[in-house]
Amino acid sequence: PIVTRFAPSPTGFLHIGGARTALFNWLYAHKHGGRMLLRIEDTDRERSTDAAITAILDGLKWLELDWDGEVIYQFSRAARHREVAESLLAAGKAYHCYATPEELTAMREKARAEGRTRLYDGLWRDRDPSEAPAGMKPTIRLRAPQTGETVIEDQVQGRVVWQNENLDDLVLLRGDGTPTYMLAVVVDDHDMAITHIIRGDDHLINAARQKQIYDALGWGIPSMSHIPLIHGPDGSKLSKRHGALGVDAYRAMGYLPAALRNYLVRLGWSHGDQEIFSTEEMIAAFDLSGIGRSAARFDFPKLENLNGHYIRHTDDQSLVRMFEGVLPYVPNSAGLSAKLNDQTRAQLLQAMPSLKERAKTLIELIDSAYYIFADRPLEIDTKAAAILTPENRLLIGRLRVALWEVKDWSAEATETAMRAFADQNGLKFGAVAQPLRAALTGRTTSPGIFDVLAVLGREESLARLDDQGP
Ligand code: GLU
Repeated sequence: PIVTRFAPSPTGFLHIGGARTALFNWLYAHKHGGRMLLRIEDTDRERSTDAAITAILDGLKWLELDWDGEVIYQFSRAARHREVAESLLAAGKAYHCYATPEELTAMREKARAEGRTRLYDGLWRDRDPSEAPAGMKPTIRLRAPQTGETVIEDQVQGRVVWQNENLDDLVLLRGDGTPTYMLAVVVDDHDMAITHIIRGDDHLINAARQKQIYDALGWGIPSMSHIPLIHGPDGSKLSKRHGALGVDAYRAMGYLPAALRNYLVRLGWSHGDQEIFSTEEMIAAFDLSGIGRSAARFDFPKLENLNGHYIRHTDDQSLVRMFEGVLPYVPNSAGLSAKLNDQTRAQLLQAMPSLKERAKTLIELIDSAYYIFADRPLEIDTKAAAILTPENRLLIGRLRVALWEVKDWSAEATETAMRAFADQNGLKFGAVAQPLRAALTGRTTSPGIFDVLAVLGREESLARLDDQGP
């Protein structure tokens, strides 16, 4: 059975690249009826935080990328890592290294000066441990092959070859008995029975190092896929401004998880020219061969358009729920939250068809729904204030009388009344609609004005016109 894993280091939020890696692993596992495991790589005790772990778990849950089984914490497996390092030592595939920090620094400097990438000169590789300085705690180093090649047959990168003479005898276990990252990853992937590793191509060089550990242990290496990183729109490293943000930031910006997943799947993977994928379609179509070799470019406008598409295709009731769900993540929204009740929720639901037509994000949706929650007398913005001239206030007063006549209040009924009023007064539609909008919403843009009238209801609409009348 296929087993993939997502293995984030909890040193920061779940960033967008990590989310894409998780998605690819999730899709691959689901496509093949396999499992995706989650391993938190918290061996770096200095930089790992509980807050980051929470952010990663929350981000995955929000994106609906569920993992199978319990979360595995790498640090809790340190004893097992140590045991494997000791077994390599016992088998002669690793050795104790007593080099001092000063010696290591000198080796490194010499290697750099000579332009060599192998930094460790093999000082303790064949030396008798009895020569070791007393009281010194040795590291355990892999006795890596010194000649020949290390080869990775990568599903995305193709065949990648390293000359062994350029690779170091890796430290597996530190002097204090803690495992290095490289050892921990290999042991965990093996013990978790991972069949496929899909991760960012910044780990490609690690694949070579890890392959040498697999070989020394006599373990088979999982299938490897190193996916190109995500770059900014200009091809440079992804910056914050260009989208290098945590998944929580996308949530707070009002993106739907389904839209973000759809956007992410297309960042580096393609399936003909199809852009929109339901989750089922994504699972069915996903394959490693569809992953490109060049860096994907992050494109905010494309994400926005996709999100707008998903908003338009989400049912109104779900959007009301999402509207409420995102509020805790939106700054200064406490006032709005406090006004959510059965009545305003019903109004929101009624307004949703007109609101969702133009909103690219839930934030835009919230913004255009503001008129439902606005207190009387309305705050009038500058542009709307310019429209509410004394003449237009007189007009509003007369229009109010005409609308008052409408007893059976609906978008259609108010439209009929308003158009008749415009005709009778020899006015163009806009000449009436503009002041009406300003009085009802305090702004010059809003959803369709008859929808606004219908959603506000007769009493509230007439009261707002009263407020702005002569
Ligand atoms: N913990 C690594 C990271 O967050 C990933 C390691 C791996 O996938 O092998 O970049």
